[in-house]
Amino acid sequence: MDSLHAALEQYYGYSAFLPYQEEIVRDILRKRDVLAVLATGGGKSLCYQLPALVAGGLTVVVSPLISLMKDQVDTLAAQGVAAATLNSSLPYEAMVRTLRDLEAGRVRLLYVSPEKAVQPRFLETLRELRVTLFAIDEAHCISEWGHQFRPEYRRLRVLKEEFPKIPVIALTATAIPTVRQDIQRQLDLADPAVYVGSFDRQNLQYAVTGKKGGYARLLDYLKSNPGRSGIVYFSSRKRTEEVAAKLQEDGIRALPYHADLPAAFRGRVQDLFIRDEIDVVCATNAFGMGIDKPDVRFVIHYDMPRSLEAYAQESGRAGRDGEESDCILFYSPGDRQKNMKILETDAVTDPEYHRIALQKLTAMVQYCETTRCRRQYLLDYFGEAFDGVPCNSCDACLLPNEFIDGREAAEKIVACIAGMPGSFGVRQIADVLAGSRSSRVTARGHQDLPAYNSGSEYSSEQWSTFIRELVANGCLDQSPGQYPVVTLNERSRRILAGDENVRLTRPKGQQAASPVLQ
Ligand code: ADP
Ligand code: ZN
Repeated sequence: MDSLHAALEQYYGYSAFLPYQEEIVRDILRKRDVLAVLATGGGKSLCYQLPALVAGGLTVVVSPLISLMKDQVDTLAAQGVAAATLNSSLPYEAMVRTLRDLEAGRVRLLYVSPEKAVQPRFLETLRELRVTLFAIDEAHCISEWGHQFRPEYRRLRVLKEEFPKIPVIALTATAIPTVRQDIQRQLDLADPAVYVGSFDRQNLQYAVTGKKGGYARLLDYLKSNPGRSGIVYFSSRKRTEEVAAKLQEDGIRALPYHADLPAAFRGRVQDLFIRDEIDVVCATNAFGMGIDKPDVRFVIHYDMPRSLEAYAQESGRAGRDGEESDCILFYSPGDRQKNMKILETDAVTDPEYHRIALQKLTAMVQYCETTRCRRQYLLDYFGEAFDGVPCNSCDACLLPNEFIDGREAAEKIVACIAGMPGSFGVRQIADVLAGSRSSRVTARGHQDLPAYNSGSEYSSEQWSTFIRELVANGCLDQSPGQYPVVTLNERSRRILAGDENVRLTRPKGQQAASPVLQ
């Protein structure tokens, strides 16, 4: 056994490395910069901790959350590793003690906030010490293209300027290529070794389901999965409390969690959840970071998140132990509208941010509305090719009966759009197809179009659903912005020519209940 494997065994009790860990550790020991993009649960911490333990000296870890730092330091201390943290919340005496330990060379890993890391006085201190590595955790915070942009991360570039010879490892679970490039550029990494692990979490089963009757279905799911624990995410703090209270009345051991609840209460919820004394946490996205519970059996999103990054991160908290777990999302097109509204305020103050946010929201909506394999859609978004369709663990692949041959409907939609005098939104097109007498139609004289009433077999709502699905599947284009219009693309033309297989969700009423949710 070589010394690295021996150290792995000695400090962690593990007999093997997870994918890329060994390569990353070896690169760092050779003083090479590294960019590590590994999924949640991929074992990122070990990548910078093990070199610190093997090579000695001081590793400075930049981490965005004080609570997260505290957890890591406590865990390391329990393993007998000298770790410490310096941050603004520390009492004076503790800070003095840590500084003394640093000077005496007694600290292997020092966790600091990004603000602290760039303070001139702190940099002075570092110069006196034998720093061997900078580790930038959650490095996607540096990029506006990430979903958790933190402007202070931008200033971390100073580390490379001040300490050009000390290697830097940047770690993140956000893999979209723009973010990757941004991290590399902003941190000024010198010819880094880049490792991108697979984001395919084979033990996670994905499903999207309508939001209507959500509470009853949630309760059903929980009752038919007794003894399994999980997280239900909400976008509203108030709803976490309401639904948790209702679930309790219905006999489910549930508690709420959000940022406005007292710290002591939040701590208790975490503990109870980790110790399996409650089964369900009804939470906002404030819950989850740094919670090391390997057997989360399901993550249900009662409201749609605003990006696939957020969705991947939050749903990724399920099944870290590798056992089968469910990731279920309750979707209603209203969630799209609501989020668009929220983003609108940014359109004025920060148009660039707004543009990016809108793009992310659109991708999230398309994940919900697609009839393609969800796993493939997700991996595709993160730049990873997936050729295992049908994956047999997403609703689209497991429930082909939920879909109909959509060629005829798609053809009608495309013909309708082609025959309209100009570009219009989803509802206008749907109204024309369904032969609606709405003022939207009559005001424009659209009742005289040839396609008017050509789709009388479905309601206008049903046509809207079909059109949105075709957009999500890439068979139609939709402009971004507040009043999106739908236009034809190459694939629409193939539909008209009969060269495209189209699958659409079976309309309501014709649908069997989803076994994924039983
Ligand atoms: P990340 O930060 O990438 O989400 P962590 O560093 O928290 O991942 O590690 C995820 C889990 O995997 C932890 O419980 C950790 O102890 C475990 N782990 C890390 N490396 C190994 C390994 N080589 N063998 C087995 N388990 C590991
Ligand atoms: Zn699939």
